[in-house]
Parts: sequence; C-alpha cells; structure tokens
Amino acid sequence: MHKNVAIIGGGLAGLISAICLARRGIACTVFEKRSYPFHRVCGEYVSNETLPFLNSLGIFPRSFHPPHIHRFQLSAVSGKHAFLPLSLGGFGISRYAFDSFLAGKAREAGATVHENCEVNQITFNGNLFSLNTISGNFTAGLVIGAYGKRARLDVLLGRSFISRRSPYVGVKYHIRTDFPDDLIALHNFEGGYCGISRVENNITNLCYLTHRDALRKCGGIEALEREVLCKNQLLKHIFEHSEFLFAKPETISEISFHIREPVYNHMLMAGDTAGLITPLCGNGMAMAIRSGKLVSEVIATCFAENKSRVWLEKTYARLWKKHFALRLRYGLLVQHYLFGSHASSNAAVNLALQLPVVARLLVRLSHGRPF
Ligand SMILES: Cc1cc2nc3c(=O)[nH]c(=O)nc-3n(C[C@H](O)[C@H](O)[C@H](O)COP(=O)(O)OP(=O)(O)OC[C@H]3O[C@@H](n4cnc5c(N)ncnc54)[C@H](O)[C@@H]3O)c2cc1C
Repeated sequence: MHKNVAIIGGGLAGLISAICLARRGIACTVFEKRSYPFHRVCGEYVSNETLPFLNSLGIFPRSFHPPHIHRFQLSAVSGKHAFLPLSLGGFGISRYAFDSFLAGKAREAGATVHENCEVNQITFNGNLFSLNTISGNFTAGLVIGAYGKRARLDVLLGRSFISRRSPYVGVKYHIRTDFPDDLIALHNFEGGYCGISRVENNITNLCYLTHRDALRKCGGIEALEREVLCKNQLLKHIFEHSEFLFAKPETISEISFHIREPVYNHMLMAGDTAGLITPLCGNGMAMAIRSGKLVSEVIATCFAENKSRVWLEKTYARLWKKHFALRLRYGLLVQHYLFGSHASSNAAVNLALQLPVVARLLVRLSHGRPF
C-alpha cells in the first residue's frame, strides 16, 4: 500500500483527519471544492464532547472567543416552552471561521490543502486510487471520503442512498439580535424546527430544517417564514426584532438521513459522508471531528504495523459502527416522534416541564462521551 492519503472534502471531518495524519508524519492532501472562508448551512453549535481532543491538539479556536452554551430552551409549535440545563453543553463558532482556522492548522502541520479543487472522478485499480480534479490527476494509496452529506461523487460511485429522494431542506442566517450567549433554543414550527444560538462576534445563528412540500405550498422561503415559522410567537419575535446579515439565506436541499456505508469501494468515509445525524441533536460537527480522529488513528496503526487493506477497512467499519450507529438511529427516532407538529412538540415540551430528569436524559443520549 502506498503510504499517502488523499482526503476528499475540507470540512471538519477532512481537516481533522489531515491535522491528525500530518502530525504523525503521514503524507496527506486535502481536496476542497470551495475556497476558505465560506458559509455553509449549519447550526454552528459544537458539543463540548470535542473539548478534550481540541485542547490536546491545541486547535480549540480560542482566539475567536466562542460563547459557551449550557442552557437549552425548547418550544412547541404553540410557543409553550421550557428551559433545561445542558449537562455537557457546547460552544458556538461559525463554520466561516472554524473551517478556515482548521485549514490553517492542517497546513501548519504539513498537510497540502488544495482549494477550489473539486474531485470529479475516482478510480481504484486494486492498489492505487486515481483522482481526477480540475487541477489535474493525483494518485494515492488511501482515500478518505469526507465530502459531506451529498455530492456528485455519490452518484458517480453509485451509492444506494443517493437514489432515494429526501424531503428535507435546511436554511441558515446570521443575524444581530438580543439573544443570551449561554443559550441554545430549539423552536418547533409546523413541519420543522429552528435552532438559535450565538457564535463569535455577537452574531447569532438562526438555522432551520423544513420539508420540501411546506416550502412548495407557501411558494418560497419568505412566505414560509411569515406564514409557518412565525406562528410560533417566540420565532415571530426573533424574525421581527433582528437584523439579517446575509443578502440571502444559505440553503441546502435533499438532506438525507438514510443509512450509508463507512467503507465504500475501499474508500474510508468520515463525517456526514459516512452518516448524517439529525440536526436537532446538535452533534454532527462533534461526530465529524470524532470520525476524523478515528480514521486517522486506524490509518496510522495500519501503516505502523504494516497491516493489510482488508484489516484497515474491517477495523474502521467496526469502530465507526461502535461509535456512531446507535446515535444516528436515536436522532431519527427523536426527530420523528418529538418534533415538527403541534402534538409531538407539545409532548416534548410537557416532558421537559413535568419530567425534566427524563428530558435531560434524552438530550444526553444524543451526545457522545467527551473524547
Ligand atoms: C440544518 C442543519 C443544521 C445543523 N446544525 C448543527 C449544529 O448546530 N451542530 C452540529 O454539531 N451539527 C449540525 N449540523 C450537522 C453538521 O453541519 C454536519 O454534520 C457537519 O458539517 C459534517 O461535517 P463534514 O466535514 O462531514 O462535512 P461538510 O462540513 O459538509 O464538509 C464537506 C466538504 O466537502 C466539500 N466537497 C464536496 N464534494 C467535494 C468534491 N467532489 N471534491 C472536493 N470537495 C468536495 C464541500 O465543499 C465541503 O466543504 C447541522 C446540519 C444541518 C443540515
């Protein structure tokens, strides 16, 4: 096996893999189709389970003074709401700042990071991968697929989840509004939910997940917000008392929570490419970071101990399932039964009001242990 690694996608999973591999002296190259810094649809709340790891590598983005978040507000479609403490909590940082910061750390560690460099085609000849990009062709002994929720590559690779349509649409804004630094709010509306929390520079992130049909029925994002989201009085207040900082929202469609494979065509998949957790868990970024750590550790062991490709693929798939498979299923169940309708969201808020211990346990179950 050639001991160089190509990493497709420079989001959290890809950049953390690059930092970990490069610091172990393993040659690696990140291919990112966009150019840093850039915005992307994400609630930008990072679970504190990542803190020991980020601190141990010296890559916690301290210079941005990310707000620390340790209270949770949940509201039903009706606006009825409850507050809960978050035992683990998290911090808020924009992907605009965080991804760009990590790309710098990856370069400092010795990784090559190609920006504006989409991987268009990938083939494997039994020993070596060949990658075709707009900047030319590259070869690598190993490939980490960290290209996010959904990409043209999935179609080219013929992954099965890609043929199943998904109705979910994500919308994100940065706003200036009066919102506490230490709070993350999750407000339900008919057919979806909206997360609100602070990031750096007194900016507040407002990000929601809705259904394609709701958007179609209203005829667009603005009408959906006016006619559906603002029926929840707490959301109405935010929409009416905020300055919206983007000219237009960041949007993403076809968000699919279908099961995927952690290893596919000999590529080791990390972050959302291996499996996407429902956003209400506020945990996808932590999982992307953790899977970047995991995949780089398994690769380092494989190279150090001269293990085979078969060993590498089996070990990574087993560890990935052990760490993440249950959480993905749990997130789907919670989204299905406790969010996005009058009845389910009321049940969730009543649970938080009447049985806060159980509600806290449910929140905790969506999170992993600190690593
Ligand atoms: C609405 C919504 C809200 C969310 N809120 C939160 C939250 O508050 N907290 C949380 O922890 N998680 C949240 N998540 C989940 C979180 O955003 C993802 O889990 C996380 O971004 C995954 O990181 P990643 O590195 O796997 O993928 P990404 O961050 O998507 O990075 C993938 C990268 O690959 C690049 N790429 C794609 N194709 C190619 C190609 N062919 N060649 C080269 N580059 C390519 C892309 O440009 C991108 O930069 C949310 C998700 C959604 C949909």
